[in-house]
Amino acid sequence: MVDNQAAAKALLYIFVPAVLLPLLVSCRSVPPTPPADPPSIRFLLTFDDGPSIKEPNPTLQILDQLATNALQPGIKALFFVQTGHPRGGGTPQGRDVMRRIHAEGHLLGLHSTSLRGHIDHTQVSTNELVRSLLDAKSLLREITGADPFFIRPPFGACNLTTRRIYKELGLHMLMADIRARDGVIYGYNGSLRRRSHIREGLTTLYRQSVTRVSPDEPVDVVLNFHDVNPYTARHMTDYLHILVEEAQRVGFHVPARPFFDRQDLMADAVLCQCVTHPVSPRGGP
Ligand SMILES: [Zn+2]
Repeated sequence: MVDNQAAAKALLYIFVPAVLLPLLVSCRSVPPTPPADPPSIRFLLTFDDGPSIKEPNPTLQILDQLATNALQPGIKALFFVQTGHPRGGGTPQGRDVMRRIHAEGHLLGLHSTSLRGHIDHTQVSTNELVRSLLDAKSLLREITGADPFFIRPPFGACNLTTRRIYKELGLHMLMADIRARDGVIYGYNGSLRRRSHIREGLTTLYRQSVTRVSPDEPVDVVLNFHDVNPYTARHMTDYLHILVEEAQRVGFHVPARPFFDRQDLMADAVLCQCVTHPVSPRGGP
């Protein structure tokens, strides 16, 4: 009897590691079964802090890559500009760059509008903010022939007063779903975790997409880059590939033309985002 019990124990010790553990390991490595009808994705690219007037010019490098790349030539984006920046949009060169952004079919929106540079809208007086926004609207109207509709406040900072002012001036505030985290340029100008940042953001959005009200409509993802960053400018095409690859990896269906390439459709999508996500904790520099 004792021998039988010992034999049973020995069998157990052999059976568990030899049979069950490999099974458990193989179960962990099996990827989750994708849904029969995965959500489709569209990328809405936005850029803050430009235009740049540096040479070589990062904003122009980005425009070139959006226009010509192997994934989808003719991509359109939304540029939130600093219309009065003394080393950017407030100079003749900066205004030429904004004219080119518009001429190439992209949208222009407001970011910082102060003549003093990248200024938090919640830290200036109501009079100064209103005056600078009106001046900025006038400048963009001169460039594009129409009033700008969209604004992304510097640092993503807003309060009830700034939101009321935006509304009274017909400006819709758009935050971002995923930030490339390229807004602060340190001594080392690079981004070691750009792919993992994007993957984390897409994973969260994929999980949220399961509970969408309209499952047949594509998920529009607002990306936040900074066109004044030379690293971003040198690697814009890489970013496009990373977006497509990581979206497929987390489970999205990526259509043949996943980026917006028509200004009117992009404006509709942005407006929809402003309405459905009027305030987001995710802003950006
Ligand atoms: Zn900014």
